[in-house]
Amino acid sequence: MTDPTPRKLIIAIDGPAGAGKSTIASRIARKLGYVNLESGAMYRALALKAIEWDTSFDDEAALMRLANDSRIELDPSIGGNRVLLDGCDVSTRIRERDVTEAASRVSVHPKVREWMVARQREMGLGGGVVMEGRDIGTKVFPDADVKIFLDADPVVREQRRLEQQKIQGEPAKAMAAELRERDRRDRTRAVSPLVAAPDAVVVDSTGLSEEQVLEKVEALIRQKLPATAD
Ligand code: C5P
Repeated sequence: MTDPTPRKLIIAIDGPAGAGKSTIASRIARKLGYVNLESGAMYRALALKAIEWDTSFDDEAALMRLANDSRIELDPSIGGNRVLLDGCDVSTRIRERDVTEAASRVSVHPKVREWMVARQREMGLGGGVVMEGRDIGTKVFPDADVKIFLDADPVVREQRRLEQQKIQGEPAKAMAAELRERDRRDRTRAVSPLVAAPDAVVVDSTGLSEEQVLEKVEALIRQKLPATAD
């Protein structure tokens, strides 16, 4: 039997920086007519607020005061996802180096994570979402319909990031070192470390083109899509 109004799936895509999550998640979302939610952008927005308010990234209580006083909105649209902090578009600013580093530091705190997870659950609850991050399949949506852990060789991930941002020479070395440190922090933090959920399908994008990764991920999702009535 086909379902006249098929249930929309919750798709979780987790993995380290530079594995290709954002590209794949946004392309898959567009193909399915789903919404692409970047959970990392929320940590980045809080990190930006901490920078602006001169708040220590190690002070969990102060970060929580900031969070409770902030409006962080993900505004997914065809032209690209916008991130609003207290009504201001910070989509570009949150990709800068200082915010990237700060995001990985504010995200180690259990209370910060609880706050983020509660909001991310609210946003994704109705389904029809491709949510990407580090803990979507393990913590935010442990019952997600599809769980993908997108990984790649660390050297390849570094190269991709440097190419994306057109960085060479000494700054490239510094950035590669920062990426490695961020990875280490994400994988070793006490709460919700970056790890593949036991029931996630690991897709290794080392040596694969974007199209090949997309094909693999799409095939996994299609298996779970409910049949539609004609
Ligand atoms: O995905 P993105 O690189 O934008 O994430 C920025 C940082 O936010 C990550 O390095 C990670 O520390 C944190 N993060 C997280 N959990 C998520 C998404 C991001 O801890 N679900």
